[in-house]
Amino acid sequence: MLQSKLFYKTTKNKNASAESVSHDLLTRAGYIDQLMAGVYSFLPLGFRVLKNIENIIRKNMQDIGGQEILLPVLQPKENWVKTGRWDSLDILFKVKGGGDKEYALGPTHEEVVSPLAKKFVFSYKDLPFSVFQIQTKFRDELRAKSGILRTREFLMKDLYSFHATQADLDAYYQKASKTYEKLFKEIGIGKLTYRTLSSGGSFSKYSDEFQMLTEAGEDIISICKKCKLAINKEIKAENPSCPNCKGDDFEEKKAVEVGNIFKLGIKYSMPFELKFTDRDGHDKPVLMGCYGIGLGRLMGAIVEVSHDDKGIIWPKSVAPFLVHIIGVENNAKVKKAVQKLHTQLQKENIEVLYDDRENKTVGEKFGDADLLGIPLRIVVSEKTLKENSVELKERGKDKVQLVKMSQILKILNTKS
Ligand SMILES: [Zn+2]
Repeated sequence: MLQSKLFYKTTKNKNASAESVSHDLLTRAGYIDQLMAGVYSFLPLGFRVLKNIENIIRKNMQDIGGQEILLPVLQPKENWVKTGRWDSLDILFKVKGGGDKEYALGPTHEEVVSPLAKKFVFSYKDLPFSVFQIQTKFRDELRAKSGILRTREFLMKDLYSFHATQADLDAYYQKASKTYEKLFKEIGIGKLTYRTLSSGGSFSKYSDEFQMLTEAGEDIISICKKCKLAINKEIKAENPSCPNCKGDDFEEKKAVEVGNIFKLGIKYSMPFELKFTDRDGHDKPVLMGCYGIGLGRLMGAIVEVSHDDKGIIWPKSVAPFLVHIIGVENNAKVKKAVQKLHTQLQKENIEVLYDDRENKTVGEKFGDADLLGIPLRIVVSEKTLKENSVELKERGKDKVQLVKMSQILKILNTKS
């Protein structure tokens, strides 16, 4: 990709109204653009990161048997009245259509997926199964803030699982929890993310939030110093000592929720009469679980923990490009070498951004490269060409390596 053609602009100066580091950096580097409070556009760079996050999530959900579907955003009021959430859920967006008919814009999809399952589940033989979608959700947050960490419209992955027995739900819940931990590792926030005990709602004592430690977070979690169990504020109020080891020495940390999993039990199968016939012919309500991850928030969270004073440092797994090429001199010799390298990398399917802008100084190009945060930077100059080489540097590291042109593909392939 040629940087001169890329639809974006960078801004050098810190954004005074930015509410978090990720908000500031993602806006200044041209990844996102704010339309209004809590509503953002994703520009080509941001969209590429979002797609990478999406693909990692999709792969992990398929690994635990999830089948991908797409449910409607626009939902009938009746379904929300049935579960009592038309009045009780304060963040629900309500819209009026023709003839004063009312609808909800989905903040979550239990009110759609439960009646859908009722059409296909009859016997214990139809269970278990799980479905998921990656789709836009709406929540009327009064205090939308911190950039893309808390928004009113956002992409979310929500998976719903359906079971005949509590044991089966429990086993699947554990499996999903392990998969979440693996996923957070893959996108580079594993070390800072804690599976955090939280209140469970109506049908189970506890549910789990996945909380990533960051000063930009609005939640406070308590981590047991003895066994490292993390618990959220509500649970801490109910349990002055650790529910796991009974220790009472906690460390309090600010955190942002990057995922959550719930055992819904029969909470939504009851109002929609989602039942199945057991082996011995008895009708029983289906047991459900739900498992959410917000994609934009995840992108913001990655930047919160992966940046320095110059800009973003993307983990390779989600970076918009793997390689950023910069030519130092603007002469024919350097340009030719860079163009050749650019074509060569493209042929190898290595995702590469080539800074071909002629109206920028080398200093400006380096500054933008640090701000954009692409993992590997290749610099070509007259000096390196004399050695038939290029300079290779990893974003976030100081070491600069001189690599022979003939070796660069091999080295990049080991780093991708
Ligand atoms: Zn403990």
